[in-house]
Amino acid sequence: MIVPDKGIKLQNMQKRIALFGSTGSIGQQALEVVKSYPELFTIKVLTAHSNADLLIEQSKSFRPNMVVIVDDKHYQKVNEALSGLNIKVFSGERALTEVAAMDHYDIMLAAIVGYAGLASTWAAIQQGKTIALANKETLVVAGDLVSEAVIANKARIIPVDSEHSALFQCLVGENPNHIEKITLTASGGPFLGKKPNFLINVKKDHSLQHPNWTMWAIITIDSASLMNIGLEMIEAKWLFGLRNEQIEVIIHPQSIVHSLVHFQDGSVKAQMGLPDMKLPIQYALAFPERLPNNHKRYELKNFPSLTFEVADTKTFRNLALAKEAMFRGGNAPCVLNAANEIVVEAFLKNKIGFLEMSDIIEKCLETIPFLERPCMDDYVACDTETRKLALTLYK
Ligand code: NAD
Ligand code: MG
Repeated sequence: MIVPDKGIKLQNMQKRIALFGSTGSIGQQALEVVKSYPELFTIKVLTAHSNADLLIEQSKSFRPNMVVIVDDKHYQKVNEALSGLNIKVFSGERALTEVAAMDHYDIMLAAIVGYAGLASTWAAIQQGKTIALANKETLVVAGDLVSEAVIANKARIIPVDSEHSALFQCLVGENPNHIEKITLTASGGPFLGKKPNFLINVKKDHSLQHPNWTMWAIITIDSASLMNIGLEMIEAKWLFGLRNEQIEVIIHPQSIVHSLVHFQDGSVKAQMGLPDMKLPIQYALAFPERLPNNHKRYELKNFPSLTFEVADTKTFRNLALAKEAMFRGGNAPCVLNAANEIVVEAFLKNKIGFLEMSDIIEKCLETIPFLERPCMDDYVACDTETRKLALTLYK
């Protein structure tokens, strides 16, 4: 169980940050946070998959010791652009895990998207690092092994995902054994209230408009299909050591209440605020401090009605499938995630429709052999096998 009980005092102490996935939505917002507190945070590592131009720009501005550009096609460009700046440049997937295992940083901000983020986060855990975790897939795919490895290596995970940051904040000063259940909130996305006869015609561009949060393609589709909140149930299970029955979801279209903890005496704590990922990023980096900022403030009077409704899992079947995978355990969440990554990509390329995404995920969950207690190699093989199967189901 990962509980917010012990923290590092920030006073007079700079935290050295390794930002994995610096060119993404979370990565860019994290750099805005870092820029606001130059006396507290310094960037030691930046990594990107293929956005060389942005990585170069970020590196010139934040002067890390090392950068990784995963796609080696761009290595020469990045290396040349940063020459003379005393920044080591690496490329390739292996460089991510090698840099993650190095000594020269205090906190990894794990902001790579998808399964691709697992290996570097895993490498950091093996070294007993503190990880500000945005990459929920690390816990979805291999939450059991990750939780054990965190304890065995005295590593530490502080959530960045807004719902989990909310729960973490509600649990400060609490005994986690006193939790009765948790409620994760989801906005419901752009298709809240729609039925299958509407969703059957939905195209990529409709889905990319998230009502409250500013997000990019993959997570936006996951929010529209309710897969995102499904993955977040599994993430919460491992982060807070919960039983499946203790985790519930409610739709909250205004995205003001970020999640709630219900305690055994009937008391309920919620964390609230305007939807802005910079807050959970800042909280995770600064924990246990709360840093002042001038972000827009939440005022009750501006939101006279906060509403909550039960999710329609008959229409949004991804949430039902995620819940089923969570209860099944073993490699089922790994299958769910791999199949989902393939179908989201296919949807974004207009190769399949919105509702077909759930059909393919369901088929993968039915077909891939169940493993009750996979090791890391099993998870890697299961991810590969599921991707292959999912591709055959629509090509
Ligand atoms: P993104 O797609 O905007 O950025 C992803 C980053 O990962 C980029 O820097 C990219 O270069 C890198 N990347 C992509 N594929 C890679 C690969 N194969 N190998 C190495 N690096 C790779 O994603 P995001 O929206 O910033 O999300 C990052 C993570 O944070 C995800 O796990 C997401 O679920 C989680 N998260 C995002 C938000 C949000 O508002 N965007 C909120 C909560 C949690
Ligand atoms: Mg979230």
